Amino acid sequence: MGPQPFVFGVDLDGVCADYTAGFRDIVAAQLGVAPETLPLDRSWDFREWNFRPGDFERFHRIAVLQQRMFRTLPVVPGAPEALWRLSDAGIWIRIITHRLYVNWGHEIAISDTAAWLDTHRLPYRDICFLGAKPEVEADMYVDDAAHNVLGLRELGNNVIVFDQPYNRELAGPRAADWTQVEEIVLDAAARKGAVLHSPLPGLDPMVDRLDTRTRRAVEPDPGSTPSGASGIDSSMTGSGGPNLLDPG
Ligand SMILES: [Mg+2]
Repeated sequence: MGPQPFVFGVDLDGVCADYTAGFRDIVAAQLGVAPETLPLDRSWDFREWNFRPGDFERFHRIAVLQQRMFRTLPVVPGAPEALWRLSDAGIWIRIITHRLYVNWGHEIAISDTAAWLDTHRLPYRDICFLGAKPEVEADMYVDDAAHNVLGLRELGNNVIVFDQPYNRELAGPRAADWTQVEEIVLDAAARKGAVLHSPLPGLDPMVDRLDTRTRRAVEPDPGSTPSGASGIDSSMTGSGGPNLLDPG
């Protein structure tokens, strides 16, 4: 039996996707106010945006179903590059998202999430769409939401807090950016005895390599026309076949 991979569970909103910035633009347009009037430094319950009971649910629904926010959220700087480096080192990337916590719009939430991951070329080996359950058998997690961090820790899991204004009361480990996430994960994987592969610096610039890999993933036939990009690394599965997630 070979060594078990080190599985890293990665939350999306507030960690890989800038939920606050994307949601703010949509809420501001709905309210007819300038986005700057809604502070990015906000509490978990958006009290700084003067939300009344029910407002969050209403605006979130508009944002997801009408404005297709899960397709358009800004990516958190450094997230794709750090995840590619971790994946290259042998870390198993498991995307975890709690976007199904409401009982509507699952088709849009799932398809827009997959499209977003492709657009921003986030590598992953599997993906979990969760409701309330926080745990998906990873060796380490990164999350921004206090209830997820505390729930996971209660079950004995290692969780990195991705720093946000609404989670400052939580104990560490804490990462202010993706460089720090990468360091903590590599350190934990090494401690666990996971076999890590060293990258070959200088030979293959990251951005070019992302392009090369994603082109390879969407161009199974030499003569075919690219129809999009995919963050799925075809070399992960050893399959040179077409990427089934690509609609084209
Ligand atoms: Mg989150």
